[in-house]
Amino acid sequence: MAFAVHRPESVPAVIAALAGPGRVAVSGGTLVIRDINEGRSFPNAIVSLRRAGLSGVVRNAETIDIGAATPIADLARPELAFLDGVLRGFASPTLRNMASLGGNLFAPRPYGDSGVALLALDASLGIAGPHGARRMPLLEFYAAGIAADEIVTGLRFALPAPGTWRWLKATRRALNSASVLAIAAVVETDSAGTVAAARIALGGVDAHPVRSPAAEAALCGRVLDAAAASHAGEEAAAAHPCFADAYASAWYRRRVLPVHMRRALLGI
Ligand SMILES: Cc1cc2nc3c(=O)[nH]c(=O)nc-3n(C[C@H](O)[C@H](O)[C@H](O)COP(=O)(O)OP(=O)(O)OC[C@H]3O[C@@H](n4cnc5c(N)ncnc54)[C@H](O)[C@@H]3O)c2cc1C
Repeated sequence: MAFAVHRPESVPAVIAALAGPGRVAVSGGTLVIRDINEGRSFPNAIVSLRRAGLSGVVRNAETIDIGAATPIADLARPELAFLDGVLRGFASPTLRNMASLGGNLFAPRPYGDSGVALLALDASLGIAGPHGARRMPLLEFYAAGIAADEIVTGLRFALPAPGTWRWLKATRRALNSASVLAIAAVVETDSAGTVAAARIALGGVDAHPVRSPAAEAALCGRVLDAAAASHAGEEAAAAHPCFADAYASAWYRRRVLPVHMRRALLGI
């Protein structure tokens, strides 16, 4: 099938190129091009984000800004070392060189590993569209999405304090596998080991990555030990529907969530 390919060199040019029916933004193309090749998508035109100045990582005084078209592989850098586990578990090296951070937000379940991590980091998005630029919390993006004529331009989050970051991706095989469950958390404890604050995000439990208020509430105010971590997992399993796919049944996901929550939070 023939379609036009646009490679605009600025965000306004991207927005202009996306105006009209059948236009699709493409970043790394790992999903867009696959769907075209496999006959599931028939765009009139694809609009590449790769030359629009949307790639790169900038460290500010208190935050990190990452361009939406930044390939996952480019996140392997010292200031983002805490994300090494996320990167290592993400698809294959070839995919990581192509797949973008912004594109991952649109990936269907059970994909969306970096979305899980970014939710726990309380990230916000830069959005651009015909009516200008705006920011929105990632949480809101997953609840409401963006308009068809808008794009994500970048992501911003504060670096987690040392020792607060947790990550676990449970898979059917060690590497290059989509998740059965993904768990990301930022957990702050006081000097007695009691959880003072927690942001816990999950993949594999709903249509897209979610925060788990149930797990967070179960953990806060308790000493962070195996019983508290498992209890947080049990509360999450009760609160989120989970789903069945080729990797696991919904029942299995709910059953193993407490175990993986304990492993994610305590490493045991
Ligand atoms: C074999 C294989 C293994 C995979 N493994 C994993 C995995 O382990 N973990 C995981 O999370 N994912 C995985 N994926 C899914 C996918 O590759 C990634 O989620 C990837 O990050 C998608 O990014 P992309 O740049 O390739 O998206 P694209 O294919 O370019 O785009 C995907 C969708 O997002 C939209 N889009 C892209 N960028 C933007 C933007 N900036 N603003 C607005 N819309 C945008 C596009 O229009 C399209 O609808 C895998 C895919 C394959 C094929």
